[in-house]
Amino acid sequence: MDCLFCRIISGEIPSSKVYEDEYLYAFRDIAPQAPVHILVVPKLHVSGINELDEESASIASKALVAIRDLAKREGIAESGYRVVINTGRDGQQSVDHLHFHLLGGRTLAWPPG
Ligand code: C5P
Repeated sequence: MDCLFCRIISGEIPSSKVYEDEYLYAFRDIAPQAPVHILVVPKLHVSGINELDEESASIASKALVAIRDLAKREGIAESGYRVVINTGRDGQQSVDHLHFHLLGGRTLAWPPG
């Protein structure tokens, strides 16, 4: 399967890894939108929220725990941060492999554009 994030997870494409376990791979976004911009990606390929099943949803819940710990490690747990899953065309999803954006380190605008 020709999936960019599967190729990053396998190490075929280099990335700035910040965390990895049996289920998840996390790396710094190549085009950061905030001082902290990390992508947390389930290793199991699932295209997005619409394709979640029981197994991938359970892994997605592990991603939230990893995000909690990464936010603490990055020093943004207290100041606050945003977790985003862009989904589909209107949601501006550009990579069809489920991923969580962890954004922080500055005051983020709301509503998003
Ligand atoms: O939510 P969306 O699908 O648009 O997010 C994909 C993200 O993957 C983008 O923020 C983009 O900068 C990032 N990316 C990356 N490394 C790549 C290709 C894309 O961090 N090699």
